[in-house]
Amino acid sequence: MPASTSLIPTRVNPDLEKERRAATFSVEEFQCWWHGGADKLNEKREIETYLYKDLRDGHLHDYLSHEDLYHLAVKDVTEASVKLRKLQKLRNPGGDNIWPKKLYNLPALLPAHHPFATHITMFVDVIYSQGTPEQIEKFGKPAANCNIIGTYAQTEIGHGTNVRGIETRADYDRATDEFVLHTPNLQAYKWWPGGCEWE
Ligand SMILES: Cc1cc2nc3c(=O)[nH]c(=O)nc-3n(C[C@H](O)[C@H](O)[C@H](O)COP(=O)(O)OP(=O)(O)OC[C@H]3O[C@@H](n4cnc5c(N)ncnc54)[C@H](O)[C@@H]3O)c2cc1C
Repeated sequence: MPASTSLIPTRVNPDLEKERRAATFSVEEFQCWWHGGADKLNEKREIETYLYKDLRDGHLHDYLSHEDLYHLAVKDVTEASVKLRKLQKLRNPGGDNIWPKKLYNLPALLPAHHPFATHITMFVDVIYSQGTPEQIEKFGKPAANCNIIGTYAQTEIGHGTNVRGIETRADYDRATDEFVLHTPNLQAYKWWPGGCEWE
């Protein structure tokens, strides 16, 4: 959407601008250090410009139904993924510095939230930090590439911190090669299963 129709001001609040100008260090120099060098910072800026130049105006989302918002968020992240894969192929074929790594930086910038946020920050990270080399190879790599999508569904209405109390069962069915979920009572109802609402 063109910037002229946006309700979001394109200029920075003058008070904030004043405070930023009062910094006793070079903001640009700090950013270079933070991102690991001027070349890395430039790359980040180029990718962001390419990725966000046609991003929708976030204020419109206030008027959408949950279902429409869901479809929009999935569309946004799918489009961003296609662009990142394309750029990775163009700039560094076979690498992972743009796809999937840059997908991880999107959460704050996708107006209707990031449908893969829980997948990336909890599912992928847990496999890499706690999995065996075999598990990382079999599940971690395809998960990091978004070939399989995971979630984090621990909390139940009646069981938060007390994970020993969890009552939901997942029984493996050899015949169908699937897990059958069983919620025995209301307390076992999964609560706040991040990412699941997107799938
Ligand atoms: C932003 C957000 C995102 C979340 N996303 C997810 C998600 O993706 N998937 C998911 O499964 N869950 C998610 N949760 C739920 C989160 O994991 C639970 O909130 C957490 O497990 C705590 O459970 P509870 O809120 O039921 O609190 P409770 O377990 O009921 O605890 C309530 C209070 O009692 C205290 N307490 C508990 N047990 C003891 C004890 N034995 N001794 C002393 N004090 C105790 C706690 O410290 C706390 O202050 C999310 C929560 C938040 C806030």
